[in-house]
Amino acid sequence: MDPDLTLEQDTIVAVATPPGRGGIGIVRLSGPAALQTLMPLLKLEVSAEPRRATFVRILDPASGHLIDEAVITYFAAPNSYTAEDVLEIASHGSPVVLGFLIEQALAGGARLARAGEFTQRAFLNGRMDLTQAEAVRDLIDATTHHQARLAAEQLGGALSRRLSPTKRALLYLIASLEAGIDFAEDDIDVLPDEKIVASLDAVEAPLRSLADSFQYGRILHAGLKLAIVGEPNAGKSSLFNRLLDRDRAIVTATPGTTRDLISERVAIEGIPVELIDTAGLRTTTDEAEMLGIAKSHEALAAADLILVVTDASKVISSQERLLRKELENRPYILVRNKTDLLPDTAGASVPGLDEGVHVSALTGVGIDILREAITSRIHGTATLESGLLTNVRQHDAVSRSLAALSEARRAVAARIPHEMVMLNLYAALQPLDELTGTTTPDDVLNLVFSTFCIGK
Ligand code: GDP
Repeated sequence: MDPDLTLEQDTIVAVATPPGRGGIGIVRLSGPAALQTLMPLLKLEVSAEPRRATFVRILDPASGHLIDEAVITYFAAPNSYTAEDVLEIASHGSPVVLGFLIEQALAGGARLARAGEFTQRAFLNGRMDLTQAEAVRDLIDATTHHQARLAAEQLGGALSRRLSPTKRALLYLIASLEAGIDFAEDDIDVLPDEKIVASLDAVEAPLRSLADSFQYGRILHAGLKLAIVGEPNAGKSSLFNRLLDRDRAIVTATPGTTRDLISERVAIEGIPVELIDTAGLRTTTDEAEMLGIAKSHEALAAADLILVVTDASKVISSQERLLRKELENRPYILVRNKTDLLPDTAGASVPGLDEGVHVSALTGVGIDILREAITSRIHGTATLESGLLTNVRQHDAVSRSLAALSEARRAVAARIPHEMVMLNLYAALQPLDELTGTTTPDDVLNLVFSTFCIGK
């Protein structure tokens, strides 16, 4: 077994706060010698009581000089983050003091923690499953409120909770089939095929909706790719800037200026969005513009949601009709821009113009409604609390499980012996165990924990 993944009995140490200077810096130790390692250094007036902040003076053992005053918190095993003895020393956030504390801990027998090792120990000690460990990383990395909430729900076990009845149902089916095979001579009824199929349905449906949640979970996790398209001069760059609240894209009155893709990250109501301004889509002979248009089509293909911008002051063009036909099966929002140019009564008088979200990138009218339209498209019916798949690893596990269930279904239909169906069912169970980390190959575990940083 990889040495990283055997639970080691040594004591590890790392600075848990970000690098740099700050009001407070925290050094964290975990392992059997967490407290003893630094005892000679910390002139404790009283002995450290678990889960209680204790004021200490840190003295240099060599010179006896005062280095800093700090507050320590001791967590006795198993009631700690890692389920081991943990000591947290909150000193002033000076790299010199923190460095001194680390040096002393190393001299006292601790070793430097590897990236993600605190959380890895929590996982190996059964304190959390793998989806929760991933959630720790996601919570730390969150850049918007929504991402933080999603990670916090997963940390609280939302995904594992959602998965657990499905796993139980699958295990029950396996057990029933096993019984039929093992005790075939003992009058135990063999499960009829209809019952197997009904059980497969009951397992497959929740897994399928979990797999579907990846689209939403991925967007909350990694951000929504939102492409802005439309004819030249429709006001795409102006809308881009309006959504950004900054002047990033060049706005000119000459059609065809945005030749390259311009992208920026924004948060729209707490959801991270990668906003992509594309070149205008139109037929052209200009080589640079043609390149831009090709890139626009690529951006369109990769987008999660598309804003089709049109000039509301002009009659609906054949180009617009073509574009909307092309996007028929894609998620898009029709944005009628330049409504400030319309007389008050317009809209209803022009056929089709009442469709879509009416905005003016110039004045800002309607932009809030557009923001809401974007977020309600993303949220759909999913909720954060229900447990979502947020990364490719998780999605891959559920997909493999679903594939194995389909195989099982085919085997039942083909009247293949139950022994073979069982193999498929075990193959469906395995990825679900991997998902939560019950039986996950070491290399996958290594991959997960290596994406953490030191001290986590
Ligand atoms: P793009 O080619 O689609 O990116 O369009 P731009 O954003 O560069 O805008 C083209 C022209 O339309 C510029 O002169 C803008 O000032 C103007 N424009 C953009 N949005 C509006 C709007 O809502 N109302 C009015 N009146 N003009 C706009």
